[in-house]
Amino acid sequence: EQGAARLPIRGRDEIGRLTAAFNDLTERREAGERQRQAMVNDIAHELGTPLTNIRAWLQAARDGVADPGPELLDLLTDEADVLQHIIDDLRDLAAADAGRLRLHPELVYVNELLDQVAAVHRSRTADVTIVTEPAGDPEVMLDPLRMRQAVGNLLSNAVRHSPPGATVTVRSRLDGDDLVIEVVDAGDGISEDDLPHVFTRFWRVDRSRSRHTGGSGLGLAIVRDLAGAHGGTVTATSRAGHGSTFAIRLPARA
Ligand code: ADP
Repeated sequence: EQGAARLPIRGRDEIGRLTAAFNDLTERREAGERQRQAMVNDIAHELGTPLTNIRAWLQAARDGVADPGPELLDLLTDEADVLQHIIDDLRDLAAADAGRLRLHPELVYVNELLDQVAAVHRSRTADVTIVTEPAGDPEVMLDPLRMRQAVGNLLSNAVRHSPPGATVTVRSRLDGDDLVIEVVDAGDGISEDDLPHVFTRFWRVDRSRSRHTGGSGLGLAIVRDLAGAHGGTVTATSRAGHGSTFAIRLPARA
């Protein structure tokens, strides 16, 4: 890969400073281009995996190795769902980038919203206990669908990174003028080195292992964009082996 030309810096005078500024711009443009290429590569990889599985199952059915019955259809549907999920995530990220992530805020009982998210995830997992711990009964202006999506992403991570029999807690509280929603797990945890990267698109602690748990590395990037669209933030605290706490903090306009 050939980089753009750099000019030799000739001194500390005006030309020298201009030359340095030009070189700096060139470097930044190249870094942006590398990032774009890496992202296209990641997208192709993430979409390719489920597609490869679908083709393999179809081939197996055609060769008479797999029974073309309801089980096969379920498998194909699962893989199609994975594809759909990644595409939905990519759309949301593109919309957020373009400032087009439109919210439909309404006055929402936060406890009710958290109970709904918890109920959905309980129906999907038998081995982890999900408890909601409401403090007070805050009623806040927010987009309920988008906030369910954000908390849902945190919850599904917490469940996936918890051992069987563990408990995951979803709690909310008002802190001054802010609403804080926390998802707490006592699972794998994240090391100090990895923690600053978890909100980066396509980033995963362990690519090969995460393959089995089905993540594409977009979930937390979307939570960050959704919190941001609400004028809020999301933060993570964690210790490897001791679990993690993810906190969404939003201005609580009621
Ligand atoms: P993924 O689709 O891989 O879950 P995310 O953006 O949701 O992508 O998370 C990025 C990475 O952060 C994950 O691959 C995982 O390594 C780590 N991570 C996220 N949540 C947790 C958690 N609750 N416990 C431990 N690790 C986590």
